Amino acid sequence: MIISVYLLVFILGACTISFLKVIAHDYPQISLTRRSHCDRCFRILRWYEIIPIIGYFIVHGKCSSCKNQLDFENPLQEFVGSLFLCITIYQNDWIYLPFFIMLIVLSFSDYFYGYVYPIFYLLSLPTIIMLFPQLHLLPAILIYLSLFLLSKRYSLGLGDIEVMSLIGLLFETNFFLNTVLIACTFCLLQYSLHKKRSFRFIPYLTIATGITYMIFSFKILAKSFPVLTN
Ligand SMILES: [Zn+2]
Repeated sequence: MIISVYLLVFILGACTISFLKVIAHDYPQISLTRRSHCDRCFRILRWYEIIPIIGYFIVHGKCSSCKNQLDFENPLQEFVGSLFLCITIYQNDWIYLPFFIMLIVLSFSDYFYGYVYPIFYLLSLPTIIMLFPQLHLLPAILIYLSLFLLSKRYSLGLGDIEVMSLIGLLFETNFFLNTVLIACTFCLLQYSLHKKRSFRFIPYLTIATGITYMIFSFKILAKSFPVLTN
C-alpha cells in the first residue's frame, strides 16, 4: 500500500517537473493547448512520447520520424527531481515544497535563457509565510549586501544573489554554507573538465540545495534512530 502511494507520488512528481519546465520555457506565453514537437523535424509528438521518463525509453531516445537523438537530460531531470520531491514528502516537509518548486522553475529558466522572471519568486511565498517566525532575517540581509558589493567587482548575477539570500533566509547558516560550497565545487569541476568560465549558477544552487537537504535530513533521521550512527 505504502509503496503504491509513493509510486503515485513519484509519477506525479515526474509530471510536475515536466510541467515546471514548460512554464520556465514558455513564460510569459504559456499556452495550455501547446503540443510538444520534435526540435528538428517539428513533428507533433504522440501521447506516449511525452510521458515523463518512460516516453524517452519507449522511443529508444530517438525521434521516430527523423531519428534525431533526444536529450538524455530530460528523463534524468524528471527522475532526479521527482525522487527529490518524494523524499521531501517522505520527510513530511510540505513547508519547503513551494520553495523547492520555485528553485526548480528558476533553474530551468536560468538554464534556458540566463535570466529569471521576478514573478517566479512568488512561488516560494507559502514557505516564507509558514516559516515566518523562524526566518533568518539578519543572515539573509548580510548575504545579500555582501554578495551585492562583490557583484560590483566580479560578475555575479542579481538572480544568483537573490536565490542565495533566500536560501540564507529559510535555512540555518550551516545549511547555506554547505549549499554554496557544493555548488562552487560543481562549478570548479566543470571548469577543470570543460574549461567553462561563465556559469548559469542557479541550476548548480538548486542541485546543491537538494544534496544539502538530503545530507541534513539524513542527519536528523540518524539522530532519531541512534542505531544508524553506530
Ligand atoms: Zn524529429
